Amino acid sequence: MNSTSVSVQQQTEIAKSIKVAIAKGDGIGPEIMEATLRVLHAAGAKIEPEFIDIGEKVYESGNTSGISEAAWDAIRRNKIILKSPITTPQGKGYKSLNVTLRKSLGLFANVRPVAALHPYVHTNFPDMDVVIIRENEEDLYAGIEHQQTQDVVQCLKLITRPGCERIIRYAFEYARAYNRKKVTCMVKDNIMKLTDGLFHEVFKEIGAEYEDIEQDVQIIDIGSARLAAKPEDYDVIATSNLYGDIISDIAAEIGGSVGMAGSCNIGKNIAMFEAIHGSAPDIAGQQTANPSGLLNAAILMLAHLGQTKTADKIKNAWLATLEDGVHTADIYKEGMTTKKVTTSEFADEIISRLGAIPQQLSVSKLSTGKGKITIPDYKRKETEKVLLGVDVFLDWQETNPEKLGKSLEKIDSYKLKLKMITNRGVKVYPNGLEETFCTDHWRCRFVSTDMDTQNKTLTYEEVEFEQVIDLLSKLNANGFNVIKTENLYEFDKKRGFSLGQGE
Ligand code: NAD
Repeated sequence: MNSTSVSVQQQTEIAKSIKVAIAKGDGIGPEIMEATLRVLHAAGAKIEPEFIDIGEKVYESGNTSGISEAAWDAIRRNKIILKSPITTPQGKGYKSLNVTLRKSLGLFANVRPVAALHPYVHTNFPDMDVVIIRENEEDLYAGIEHQQTQDVVQCLKLITRPGCERIIRYAFEYARAYNRKKVTCMVKDNIMKLTDGLFHEVFKEIGAEYEDIEQDVQIIDIGSARLAAKPEDYDVIATSNLYGDIISDIAAEIGGSVGMAGSCNIGKNIAMFEAIHGSAPDIAGQQTANPSGLLNAAILMLAHLGQTKTADKIKNAWLATLEDGVHTADIYKEGMTTKKVTTSEFADEIISRLGAIPQQLSVSKLSTGKGKITIPDYKRKETEKVLLGVDVFLDWQETNPEKLGKSLEKIDSYKLKLKMITNRGVKVYPNGLEETFCTDHWRCRFVSTDMDTQNKTLTYEEVEFEQVIDLLSKLNANGFNVIKTENLYEFDKKRGFSLGQGE
């Protein structure tokens, strides 16, 4: 089977040094990177840095994407990036470098572990230890938006089967590799039956291969509420891009670790590791920044590279440092902090504890994990696709659906007949309600229908695309303003479109 190893975690340390593209970033970036690299070096991490320039200076040199050709080359050559936060200059049409990197490099999985560090870092949830695995490229973040009429704009939510398969399999494989017991899927398929329905369906399909792992599916709204109220009930969460973006911030916030958490973006061949906080320009150059977020990202990187013993050594020394009350200014706490330190001193304190293990906080055990995460290449299954009709979207300024319906019924198109009209998804013709508010955006569903007189049900017949073109030219000739169309298909006899509310 063709497959891709996207993460390696093994007991034996790799002898050879791995080249890593390192971006020192902006603001506090250079200070926290210097501290992090010193700890990595002292712990014996086998990495060889190649420094790249991205961020503010590159933007200001006139490069609107914030990354130079040389940096792209280094990233693609080294395949591993450790990145400090960067500052995106406001306005002037600069693009978010993070989004550019994630999408251009195919970094499909965003992994954000959040574990409580109670009582050293304040949280109301001392037992919280959750990993959010979020799809990173698709969904509403595809960024396909249009204004279609004076009053209506739309954003396309794109969910793909390969996208669902690899993120869900990655979540299950991650659970196995890191000794996690349960994966919870979060969706909203009670409303979005096709898009979120596909995510749910793929979760059930792939979940069937992981009987050793407990599984649960929750609707995202109640799921987020429960996560905020009882985060200790969750272990690994797998979800799509927007939901994942929101719940990973909820998790980091209630875990008390927004400034301390690291995350990784995993692709087929390339992986990028970074802190979740920004470049903190307000404290830049003062040596007061906490390097823990970037250090945690570096720990995830070492685990990904198979250097799990070194990752454990650093994590345990970091936990022991926090337990000893050695804190940077942001986590200073009267009665808990014994020594307030600078960024650089914090690194020295961690280095002096390499080999120590925490007494209260959970000991890091990345090296007891099970091994490789392997994601098979996507295999496309052929399905039979049949065209049954078309939804024609019209920009129509009047407000009476009866009038629109009667006019459309008069359109003499071979085979395709008006079945219904919806406005904002609600059926308004035939037999709509007077109370329904209508905008200037009308979806008019045309299908080829036959009445099954015995069962008194409508059956759809296959239509040719030429019939759709014929309908569109007749609508145009009759003065209707067509703004877009969506073909109505069935795939292997399963309806590939949603019904209108009330249809
Ligand atoms: P921020 O995370 O930089 O700062 C928010 C607050 O947290 C500030 O008060 C800051 O001093 C504090 N803080 C952040 N990290 C800290 C640390 N390690 N130690 C101590 N205190 C810390 O968020 P922001 O102010 O909204 O953004 C500043 C800049 O960072 C913006 O240009 C933004 O675009 C950029 N940003 C970059 C990334 C990234 O590169 N991944 C992520 C988020 C924001």
